[in-house]
Amino acid sequence: MVFGLSTRAVHGTRVIDGVGEPVVAPVFQSSTFVNPIGDHGEVRYTRYGNNPNQVELGNRVAALEGGESAIAVSSGMGATALALRAVLNPGDHLLSSAWIYGTTRNLFESEFGRLGIEVSYVNPGNPRNWRAGVKPNTRAVFVETVTNPLMRVIDLGILSRLCRELGSALIVDSTFCSPYNCRPLEHGADVVIHSATKYLNGHSDVIAGCVVGTEPLIGEVRRLMKLWGQAIDPHAAWLVERGLKSLAIRMERHNANGMAFATWAATHPQVASVHYPGLPDHPDHEVASRLLDGYGGMVGITLVGGGPAVAEMFKRLTVATHAPSLGGVETLVSEPRYTSHAAFSREEREAQGIPDGFVRISLGIEDVDDIIADFEQAFAAVEA
Ligand code: PLP
Repeated sequence: MVFGLSTRAVHGTRVIDGVGEPVVAPVFQSSTFVNPIGDHGEVRYTRYGNNPNQVELGNRVAALEGGESAIAVSSGMGATALALRAVLNPGDHLLSSAWIYGTTRNLFESEFGRLGIEVSYVNPGNPRNWRAGVKPNTRAVFVETVTNPLMRVIDLGILSRLCRELGSALIVDSTFCSPYNCRPLEHGADVVIHSATKYLNGHSDVIAGCVVGTEPLIGEVRRLMKLWGQAIDPHAAWLVERGLKSLAIRMERHNANGMAFATWAATHPQVASVHYPGLPDHPDHEVASRLLDGYGGMVGITLVGGGPAVAEMFKRLTVATHAPSLGGVETLVSEPRYTSHAAFSREEREAQGIPDGFVRISLGIEDVDDIIADFEQAFAAVEA
């Protein structure tokens, strides 16, 4: 019997089979374990990623993404670095979307060249650009979808067909979607990465990441992790597992709040533009409706009053908090010009559609009427 996503999120692969067994898995806060004497079998040691909390979290994420295997690690960046290093070797070329998290781009630019891995970028606005970017040594294609902060949705079907033809791996950072809204493997991706810090954990109290893929790929990620040392702490793994249990109902609320907020913002006189794939005028609304089971809780807006209006508004918000990150139960606001896009000049950001005055909002699971009222009063105070 194949269980639904919510049942898999709550129960994972854990079997409770005895009277007196704890219903909730204990935290195995132990670096090492009693190993059999005189035996060449598996050595259990927490840096190896085989602590029961680490194993259970990997199993649960694999079950949610529909993957053969998965591994939990200590951060989203750790997951990206290990997954790509597992696929790519010196002399290989990585074709990456240009619309990616700034630190991921920094990793590619400052570290991959030193490893002999060539990286080039494609503007995914026109799907034809992908083929034009391919080189004879292209071994992998990397995308984020939904993208930050314009909430663009990349058609994974087109990309997976290209990758099949090339014999390259399609690697998707699906952090903004969570497996509730999109399961990239169903659309032909080979590897899925998450910053579990975000929706998977959902409570803004853990840094974690995971990689999902085939057994051999995850085996290679595990081998590298043992050497490079990104094992997740057992307590952090336990917290993410706990967070996952409510993933489905949290995502339902994030999706509903995202839609309600975007719809409201689109009518507000102080908002010049709204970026939300659930709105019919979003450039990727049609792709999003095919690919996603929910449009998510991330919304981008540009204020008519530009940068100064943002600062004034932020000071007056009381429900929403000014902090980077996303995907938690609380509503967070940030300005890409100071965070994800700080490395770009003002002109470069404008060319990308991210002018000063652009605000990224991670809708939490509070009552959406309260979130909207919070923004209403902040806008009113700015206008006064
Ligand atoms: N991928 C995306 C899309 C992100 O937004 C982030 C962090 O903001 C990361 C990866 C890195 O995750 P972490 O902060 O868990 O290392």
